[in-house]
Amino acid sequence: MTVFEQVKSAVDMRTVAEGYGLHIDRGGMTLCPFHDERTPSAKIYPDNLHCFGCGAHVDVIGFTQKIFGLDKPIDAVKKLNDDYGLHIDIGKAPTAKEVSEYQKRVQEKRAYEEWEKSAWRTLNDYLWLMREWRAFAPASPDEKCDERFVYSLHHLDYAEHLCLEFINFNKAGRISMKIIVEKIADFLKNMRADF
Ligand SMILES: [Zn+2]
Repeated sequence: MTVFEQVKSAVDMRTVAEGYGLHIDRGGMTLCPFHDERTPSAKIYPDNLHCFGCGAHVDVIGFTQKIFGLDKPIDAVKKLNDDYGLHIDIGKAPTAKEVSEYQKRVQEKRAYEEWEKSAWRTLNDYLWLMREWRAFAPASPDEKCDERFVYSLHHLDYAEHLCLEFINFNKAGRISMKIIVEKIADFLKNMRADF
């Protein structure tokens, strides 16, 4: 674990944001320190701040670096270490390779989180669509079946099953569903053309 990870596991985003003067409301929202605004559009998550206004996305280190205009991430690490009495042995500065590996891990984590959110939205939309299509059931036995109703007959259970799996799976399991999720996203996209 690099000093970056040590710092991040030692202090959470809320503590640092409040410590450096941000007011966070009950919904976890705050005025964005990186652009001028009157109503809060930045949200504090346990390990990052994300602004829905200007798109700023920083962890405690990036936040501290940006707020105080520090040159390098390691300067922010030192400042956090001092200000929050973290007693982390910083020793010699991490090498450029360690820094870039760390940044790569942060980016990968973020990319996964974005994917996870959109995958869940896709599966959930699919499930709700299958539920809605049940409403196209024929009113009488002589009536011709609506294609959507027939489709939902065959796929509602499947949609429920996928959602449950996604909820219960760990990260590796969710990633293994990637191709299925893509197929469903395509289906949802093309659906309006088909029906
Ligand atoms: Zn902002």
